[in-house]
Amino acid sequence: MNKKFALHWQILIALILAILYGIAFPDVYKINLDAYKKILSEKDKIRLSDQQLIAIESIISEKTYSEKEIIAKISAISDTELTEQQKEVILKYSLYNPPVSYISWMGIIFLKALKMIIIPLILMSVISGIANIGSAGNLGRLGLKTMLYYLMTSTAAILTGLFFVNIIKPGNGINKNLIKTSDIPRIEHHSFSDTFLNIIPENIFEAFTQNRMLSIIFFAVLFGFFITKVSTKSRTILTDLFNAGFEVMMKITVFIIKFTPFGIFGLVAKTVAEQAGNLSSLMHMLGLYALTVILALSFHAFVILPLFLKFMAKVNPFAHLKAMQAALLTAFSTSSSGAALSLTMESVENNAGVSNKISGFTLPLGATVNMDGTALYEAVAALFIAQAYGYDLNLSEQAVIVITALLASIGAAAVPMAGLVMISVILTAADLPLAGIALILPVDRILDMFRTSVNVWSDSCGAVIIAKSEGEKLKV
Ligand code: ASP
Repeated sequence: MNKKFALHWQILIALILAILYGIAFPDVYKINLDAYKKILSEKDKIRLSDQQLIAIESIISEKTYSEKEIIAKISAISDTELTEQQKEVILKYSLYNPPVSYISWMGIIFLKALKMIIIPLILMSVISGIANIGSAGNLGRLGLKTMLYYLMTSTAAILTGLFFVNIIKPGNGINKNLIKTSDIPRIEHHSFSDTFLNIIPENIFEAFTQNRMLSIIFFAVLFGFFITKVSTKSRTILTDLFNAGFEVMMKITVFIIKFTPFGIFGLVAKTVAEQAGNLSSLMHMLGLYALTVILALSFHAFVILPLFLKFMAKVNPFAHLKAMQAALLTAFSTSSSGAALSLTMESVENNAGVSNKISGFTLPLGATVNMDGTALYEAVAALFIAQAYGYDLNLSEQAVIVITALLASIGAAAVPMAGLVMISVILTAADLPLAGIALILPVDRILDMFRTSVNVWSDSCGAVIIAKSEGEKLKV
């Protein structure tokens, strides 16, 4: 890392510049001939009526509109409401934002590079981590401790969320008639038993191509474990091989990390530009809900987890927070614990001083199963929807939410907006209307940034606490 100008400062500056850039150049839309032709090419797929086509044709010009204006105009001229799919296609082709498109490629490349290294990094780190842990007794103890920590902090997060949402009651007084049935997203249903049965992959290569992290980790744990059971000769060869592979992956990681400020600039500027147009109305309508989520997340991150750090590991929370800055800012900007994983590992090992043996085992697992921020978010969102619909949930009904939110956070993938998908499971389990998802949809993307940072923060605290309990000497 450049000592003169530390990475987290570079990232922070990139973040601020990106926000300013996105606000300065919000997304606008323009139907020129080119955009019209592209829309026309998909007219059958999205079932545009003749009337709708005429409406679109009638606004062909160089004039630019905001998202709302263009949709309203087409709907008004054709006298029909556009469906979600139609809106999506029209907006995709008519997006006109040259200043943002000049820089958004940086974000795309960065995100691709991060995603590219996730699987090899997990594979190498878990296999080498477990092979190095050695004896089976060690592994069992470490696994048990890790799972215990994950369960404890996620449950604490959910209870914190419930506490805040019950006190603030952001859902009371929300006008649920604002929900149009057309706004209800189509969300696939996942059952919990499916999620858990799917951990065992039928075909490990399929798990790789479908990014099924839990399956990959499952296989890697087995592979690493049985490396310790083969003849000394094979064990040495394989352990060395995977240690060497892991070293290479970390070198690639450090190389990619150098570009983080540019990547974050591209990613965040684009997100801000997308949201800039409707930010104020969003905040007005869902401000209290968003505030509740952010308050509860902050309480968990800045009070509860530091207490765990202080009392379970005698670690200075501030020093650890400082060590994790770059990883946390990346989690915030990418909304993906998976994408941030490489930086999390780098920071936990190099800045906090945790051994590769511990970080290689706990962090990939944590990125996938330990999501405090998501667990908290699920609980607050479900209660918010219940409040908006006028349901008064008693204690046992809230207990259902605690358990399902915990499972949902374990089952959620480490990718943007995974938490939103899981809410459907909780709503179903708690007998709440699925249509409520439309209520929280508008601010989900923004809240995702906050909850992902908390997810990564909790993973990193876990790695330090477990390393300390194994007698490691740390830098924090
Ligand atoms: N984006 C979150 C993560 O990757 C998951 C979620 O959507 O809550 O950690």
